Amino acid sequence: MRKKWLFIIATIFTLVVIIFSLRPEKFIIVIDAGHGGADPGTTSSSGIHEKEINLSIAKKIAASLAKANYKVIMLRNDDSEISLQSRYEQANALNADFFISVHANAIENQPHIEGIQVLYYPDNEANNEQLAKVMLEQLLTTTKAQNKGVVARPDLAVLRGTTMKSLLIETGFLTNEQETKRLLQTTYQQKIADAVTQSLNRYANDGWLAKTKN
Ligand SMILES: [Zn+2]
Repeated sequence: MRKKWLFIIATIFTLVVIIFSLRPEKFIIVIDAGHGGADPGTTSSSGIHEKEINLSIAKKIAASLAKANYKVIMLRNDDSEISLQSRYEQANALNADFFISVHANAIENQPHIEGIQVLYYPDNEANNEQLAKVMLEQLLTTTKAQNKGVVARPDLAVLRGTTMKSLLIETGFLTNEQETKRLLQTTYQQKIADAVTQSLNRYANDGWLAKTKN
């Protein structure tokens, strides 16, 4: 009798291990840290380059998504320079499910302006605006940053050129001294990363990451 129970327990344990090890990575997510190399992006009054903040946040997003079982590919992991065309071509060649570009904002002569903005490619067929709203809402909840809204950007190469769903996050204004300080904090960067993962989880649960190209 005892042997029988041991056998049943061992079988269940083996099955659980097999199912867990076969569990596929949910979706392929491409993370694009904006700028790099000779292109620093915008620069704060304290001399912080956007490309550095973008990379630092992009790495945290990648780690957070990988932990949540997404397959993550970063277009740059260091200070290398990549053309805009190469960015979307690489993402398309990978047949990725989602593309997230990470940037920081700037506005001349308006040092009081701060907050997070999410940019999307306007396409009535895809629910890009809805995706942008979900991500922005999550980012604002987690970071308590000011709301700079979602913005349709048909002109941005990485959003226009990618064949999968895509968003560009403007994580904050480097022209605002306080926001720049927050963007440099590890804990604040982690909040942004967690919000991105929570958004992706919601997209996945709502079926928005199914292979329907925009
Ligand atoms: Zn930028």
